[in-house]
Amino acid sequence: MFRTAQLLVRLAGKVAVITGGASGIGEATAKEFIANGAKVIIADIQDDLGHAVAAELGPDATYTHCDVADESQIAAAVDLAVSRHGHLDILFSNAGIGGATSQDDDMASLDMAAFDRVMAVNARSTLAGVKHAARAMSAGVVLCTASVASVLPVPEAAIYSVSKAAVVAVVRAAAAPMARRGLRVNAISPTTTVTPMVTRLPAAVLSKMFSGSNVVGIEPEYVARAAVYLASDEARYINGHNLVVDKGYSVYKAADAGVAMPAGT
Ligand code: NAD
Repeated sequence: MFRTAQLLVRLAGKVAVITGGASGIGEATAKEFIANGAKVIIADIQDDLGHAVAAELGPDATYTHCDVADESQIAAAVDLAVSRHGHLDILFSNAGIGGATSQDDDMASLDMAAFDRVMAVNARSTLAGVKHAARAMSAGVVLCTASVASVLPVPEAAIYSVSKAAVVAVVRAAAAPMARRGLRVNAISPTTTVTPMVTRLPAAVLSKMFSGSNVVGIEPEYVARAAVYLASDEARYINGHNLVVDKGYSVYKAADAGVAMPAGT
């Protein structure tokens, strides 16, 4: 039974690994998790930034180098959480890259090497995360950052869209086998979010990718709060779900899709 006081600190005593935790959504989630009583391992490839973020967050945060394209480094981050804190309760597979964007809508010149790289960082890592969570966790939650592009592909970011649809496919495929182990696995799909992944893009690329009001983006804290909810016991019956955090963008944009349909379709 819920008690109001329990809701104020939703992750008391939990231990989390957050990949891509040095920046953007991962950093905001590390802050929210700690504010909700968790201990956090920030796993990233930006070592200086990651150490600085962990220092700012205080003793409940630890930084470790982890390239999620390398399964053994995901395994090591998971093992670090268990050896340092005795257990792991939340694995947030959040690290991701945009990959090539400038020519992605020209199917005749797709860069398949870029595809392999984006799939390794965004999608293969998600499956590896599920694997090592299953190995190391006896209860708890796996969260995976997909994207609104998982449900409404961005034509100018076709490779990225494929990779994020694969993230959701991993979540859906893993839900039942993970439930048998007492684990839940869910995706979060943000719309454009104001993080370095977006703010470092040239304005021309941004406006081509995200037409109209969606360019404004949402604050990463609101994605982080969705992650807190899914990681908490309040979401105990939510498994295999893709929680879209997009102000309804994918709904009304999809409803509008006919306007943008190419001739002949
Ligand atoms: P960000 O660039 O601020 O953060 C991404 C982090 O991932 C960085 O700290 C980066 O160093 C790390 N990273 C990149 N490659 C890595 C690797 N191989 N191993 C480990 N860490 C690696 O961007 P963000 O917006 O916070 O992105 C977080 C997640 O959110 C990504 O999966 C991204 O695809 C997804 N997302 C972002 C948006 C957006 O508009 N910003 C929208 C939807 C989904």
